[in-house]
Amino acid sequence: MVADRGRPSRRWPGADLLACSFVTGSLFRRLLMGALALLAATLLAADYTLTRPLAPAEIRERILLIFAASLLAAFGIVFFVSRSLTGRIRRLKLLAESFPGGKSADPEPADRGDELSRLERSLAGVAVETQKLVDNLRYESARREAILSSMTEGVLAVDRDLRITFCNRSLLRAADFRGVRPEGRFVLEVVRDPDLRQMLADVLATGEPRKLRLKAAGTARTFEAQAAPLDTPTGRGAIAILHDITDLERLEQVRKDFVANVSHEFRTPLSGIIGYADTLLDGALQDAANNRRFVEIIRANAVRLSNIAADLLILSELESGADAETDLISIRGVIDGALATVAAEARAREVNLIREEVENLFVHGARLRLEQAILNLLANAIKFNRSGGEVRIRAARDGEGRVTIRIADTGIGILSQDLPRIFERFYRVDKARSREVGGTGLGLSIVKHVIERMNGAIQVESQFGRGTVFTVSLPAADPDGQSIR
Ligand code: ADP
Repeated sequence: MVADRGRPSRRWPGADLLACSFVTGSLFRRLLMGALALLAATLLAADYTLTRPLAPAEIRERILLIFAASLLAAFGIVFFVSRSLTGRIRRLKLLAESFPGGKSADPEPADRGDELSRLERSLAGVAVETQKLVDNLRYESARREAILSSMTEGVLAVDRDLRITFCNRSLLRAADFRGVRPEGRFVLEVVRDPDLRQMLADVLATGEPRKLRLKAAGTARTFEAQAAPLDTPTGRGAIAILHDITDLERLEQVRKDFVANVSHEFRTPLSGIIGYADTLLDGALQDAANNRRFVEIIRANAVRLSNIAADLLILSELESGADAETDLISIRGVIDGALATVAAEARAREVNLIREEVENLFVHGARLRLEQAILNLLANAIKFNRSGGEVRIRAARDGEGRVTIRIADTGIGILSQDLPRIFERFYRVDKARSREVGGTGLGLSIVKHVIERMNGAIQVESQFGRGTVFTVSLPAADPDGQSIR
């Protein structure tokens, strides 16, 4: 017999349902089996009743009883199955609603071998994975937030309408913004700089990075702003990073001033040398009355140049940290050495050097440098003194255990307006007098550098016309077990 493939085969309709239930899974299969079992039990009971020799009224009564019992059993099955299904579906719903980042109420759902069980288990697995993903994202975002917040550079991100989507504390500080929430505000409300706003607008319009130097209103600080496009879920935005270059600019200015000062300081003695050398060459060599004096002037100017060069070298060494070696230094040794060095000069200027109590104290640092600093202070106290004046030096431990060296003179004193500037390079209250006594204007800068490199501090008090007191304070060192130089 040849099968007729064109026509649909005539099959019992329940066969499709049965086949479907076997294919689609065990939940349907079990329900179907239950229903069939109930139907078979009902039919068997009915058959048994009909084959009994009973009166028709009794048969009807039993048949009704059988159908009532079957109906009751069917309701029972439907009730229990639907209750179990409703509970499981509710659990699935809760689990799905708690995404992302939610947790399964039952992390290890029981395997009942049906689709719902499998769905529940796979959803629980997805929940665990999603939780991990969400935790990772939270961690990443917290880390990024922490980095951005702690950056010294100001960071500002805007959306396409130039509304702020993010900005860190440094930026708010730089912009002197005291409002509550900067996010959502227009850039100009937070950073009142039209140039910055324009730069961000340009970046949004062109998609090209931009750079700008701007002065922050109210804080007198200078920033270099760099902006770049930023792709966000809501379209193109822009991000700007503001570097505070105030210190760099100041350093640049200091460097320029320093070069100008050095050239200026070198020019005077150099012109003296050239001028007197020319005079000698132009015939003064034969001028027996003056030629020696001219050569002495040339020599004095050369010595001055050499002093400036030597002091500049010391300063540059101090700044580069070249003399990093540290000794255990005896303060008594340093002071006695410096006093011996300036003794002749003091005698020549008729200044009385008085060594008051000098305790046996120790500090850590470069011995030669500290000696140089004390020598500079003593030399100044003698140079800017008057004949018959005094210079007193003493060293003691203060209440906080630090070593204090005090150098007091009864010299010309310093006007209060000049006091804050005397530690600047090349600053001299009276240029002519300083030059006359062989000063370079670098002595106190060197002193300050030396003391600060030893973690110390220097203070000055002065009364114009009466005298000046310099007080150096240094951390004391413990001499036990160390060689003393
Ligand atoms: P200088 O080489 O001119 O001494 P310093 O840097 O040592 O340079 O000192 C700077 C200026 O501070 C001096 O030119 C002087 O005007 C003033 N000064 C320093 N020490 C004293 C002092 N003990 N008494 C009065 N003026 C002083």
